[in-house]
Amino acid sequence: MRLPFFPPDLFEGDREHLLRLVHEIGTAPSQKFILGEHTARLEQALCEQLGAADVVACGSGTSALTLVLAAMEIGPGDEVVVPAFGCAPLAGAIVSLGAVPVFADVDPRTMVVDPADMERRITARTKALMPAHIFSVMADMPRIAAVAERHGLRLVEDSAVAQGGELAGIPAGLSGEAGVFSFVQVKTFGMAGEGGVVVTRNAELGRLVRMLRNHGQDGKNRFLHHRIGWNSRFDELQAAFQLHRLPGLADRLERRARIAAHYTERFAELTAHGVVAPPPGREGRCYYVYTLLAERRDALRAHLAERGVGSHAYYPLPLPRQPAFACYARPGDAWPAAERAADRALSIPVYPHLRDTDVEYIAAAVREFALVDARG
Ligand SMILES: *Cc1c(COP(=O)(O)O)cnc(C)c1O
Repeated sequence: MRLPFFPPDLFEGDREHLLRLVHEIGTAPSQKFILGEHTARLEQALCEQLGAADVVACGSGTSALTLVLAAMEIGPGDEVVVPAFGCAPLAGAIVSLGAVPVFADVDPRTMVVDPADMERRITARTKALMPAHIFSVMADMPRIAAVAERHGLRLVEDSAVAQGGELAGIPAGLSGEAGVFSFVQVKTFGMAGEGGVVVTRNAELGRLVRMLRNHGQDGKNRFLHHRIGWNSRFDELQAAFQLHRLPGLADRLERRARIAAHYTERFAELTAHGVVAPPPGREGRCYYVYTLLAERRDALRAHLAERGVGSHAYYPLPLPRQPAFACYARPGDAWPAAERAADRALSIPVYPHLRDTDVEYIAAAVREFALVDARG
């Protein structure tokens, strides 16, 4: 048995279609390879699906975060509160604008940022809160939105891993002023290349992001630059491919959720044995990956590897412990839950084309570790 953490054949089923698109778009008379009709149609389709005011496709999820923060005019001297446990773009996007990331601790069980700790980190310089959904659980957006409201702060939702998730009746990405999705290969709406979108319920913010993604031009007057922007444009071939893949997304997400539900049921009794599964249920869940907390994480990882099951330990260091961001930690700052998560989190495969027998094989391997192996 060999079950890699991410599958090597992600787009195999769409190979013929992709090749056809390469030919069609590559030889079309318009010779339009970025920001053309396919990109506009993809933006429109996502916008309608979400009920957003605007969706703006751009070069990557990271760049989507940067463009939103730039559109909000976050810059030197400003602070943005982010989770201490998460991926580098959360802090990197802020630093790239000359602003300062301030790290808040996370919930020890769900690993998403703790709204109360976010609130404690607010200072007179704080301009925005930027929570992130992580692995399998969405951040507590209702409570975080209340904190933002109370302090008059902007709210950006890093929903890069949560496309299709919903919390308190609001789709991931739309709880704050703006959210982002990433289409990098392995994300739930991944594709064979780089890309992402900004989703927003604020049409004016959407307009600004649209300008910033293409060097500050407004889309009408070429070579008229209203603001300093970026090259963060979207590829027409990828847009056409995503339009082809979009109708199947709901089924693929449903398959992920069912695999996760099976795992969660099979792992319920492992808590007493040092392996904790994400909380059950559908509300506020997103299964980009399925992440356990294991006391003996590295031993579990080795156990799974021996049985041919790939796993992944994201993120082995909290952000403020990373060499790149350590200078933003303040004396006396501590993130005990983020440290614990970094030591214990282990993600297992949850991609939709795992067969039921694969899923049970993985579940059984985890159970064996917790219930049998750990005693030996
Ligand atoms: C993947 C990811 C990003 C960045 O997206 P890219 O498209 O890889 O730039 C940002 N935030 C989170 C939480 C992510 O998982």
